[in-house]
Amino acid sequence: MNDDVLIGDEEPGGNGESVGGAVANPRSLLDDAARAALRALLGDDVRFDEPMRRHTTARIGGPADAFAMPSTIERLVALLRWCAAAGVAVTVVGGGSNLLVRDAGIRGVVLNTGRLRRIELVDGTAIEVEAGCSTGKVLSLAMKHGLGGVEFLGGVPGSVGGGMIMNAGTYLGEFKDVTAWVESVRLSDGARVRRDNAACGFRYRDSDLPPTEVVVGARLELRPRPRAEIEAEVKALRKRRAEREPKKVSSNGSTFKNPPGDFAGRLIEAAGCKGWQIGDALCSPVHANWLVNVGDATCADMLALIERVRARVQEAHGLTLQLEVKILGEDVSGDTR
Ligand SMILES: Cc1cc2nc3c(=O)[nH]c(=O)nc-3n(C[C@H](O)[C@H](O)[C@H](O)COP(=O)(O)OP(=O)(O)OC[C@H]3O[C@@H](n4cnc5c(N)ncnc54)[C@H](O)[C@@H]3O)c2cc1C
Repeated sequence: MNDDVLIGDEEPGGNGESVGGAVANPRSLLDDAARAALRALLGDDVRFDEPMRRHTTARIGGPADAFAMPSTIERLVALLRWCAAAGVAVTVVGGGSNLLVRDAGIRGVVLNTGRLRRIELVDGTAIEVEAGCSTGKVLSLAMKHGLGGVEFLGGVPGSVGGGMIMNAGTYLGEFKDVTAWVESVRLSDGARVRRDNAACGFRYRDSDLPPTEVVVGARLELRPRPRAEIEAEVKALRKRRAEREPKKVSSNGSTFKNPPGDFAGRLIEAAGCKGWQIGDALCSPVHANWLVNVGDATCADMLALIERVRARVQEAHGLTLQLEVKILGEDVSGDTR
């Protein structure tokens, strides 16, 4: 897998569903009228009963009632206003590189930002970028113009929007270090909100950006740096990652956050969990904090492995690992907890 490939960058191919046809998924909350209205609003930018495993790097997840990829912020706002008026739930996803979607999928509309990809250099040293742009493209543009500050993105997949929510980063830095402002749209009424860095509440793999909004863009403040230096640092980061991380696996990267002063991978390995497997969910023998899908793992398999590893680490080290990955959707019993 190319770490810099954003799943949401893929051009939609359509899934053969037709508006007004039979509802393929009996769990779907969208009737024919709702589907027709969404099709009228978004044209080909919406798919119905779309398997979320196609949109997650772990290749796990049941169907979304509707999977919407608005190509402009205006269309995104129109979609949100329609959903609010119709009482349809909205779930926001970016590149799907930090997601576990439960096996029965997601009810309502999944809003994917993957078509909001505008990116530009402004004022000589800043980048203004829409939320669906891949982190790889941000790094490439910065490198091309000899701007330092986002070297930490080497090998971090996903979108800018997801990166802001997660405050994605590596030992070289994180979004917190370079973000001037983040712009969001409120799910309830489509109103735009701009927050400066301090108001985003960035912290280790987390932020205060509210789940009641969708991030649509950001401004990154960079600094001139010789391109050769940037390239050397990114190359070293990628090399270090290649030496430590599993290759060619479907995953979310790290499953758990590192506890203060330690590493989740070290704790899991010391607790003897490396190589543990439930169904096709495996605690990687290469890096113990990577719980990977080695075939057709279900979300239930992955969640069972997560709980088994967490319990063993608790027993061995007396601490409870916190999840870095985000869990969305409902399981086959309809449970969303
Ligand atoms: C191989 C691999 C390596 C990785 N390495 C790293 C690493 O080194 N460092 C690191 O920090 N992470 C790493 N990750 C995890 C992941 O890449 C980051 O968390 C990334 O920032 C997630 O971005 P995304 O667009 O894929 O978000 P998603 O996975 O789609 O979503 C993540 C969360 O953000 C929310 N969200 C997404 N977009 C928006 C938006 N526009 N508005 C509002 N909410 C939104 C979702 O609802 C969800 O809660 C790795 C993942 C993989 C697969």
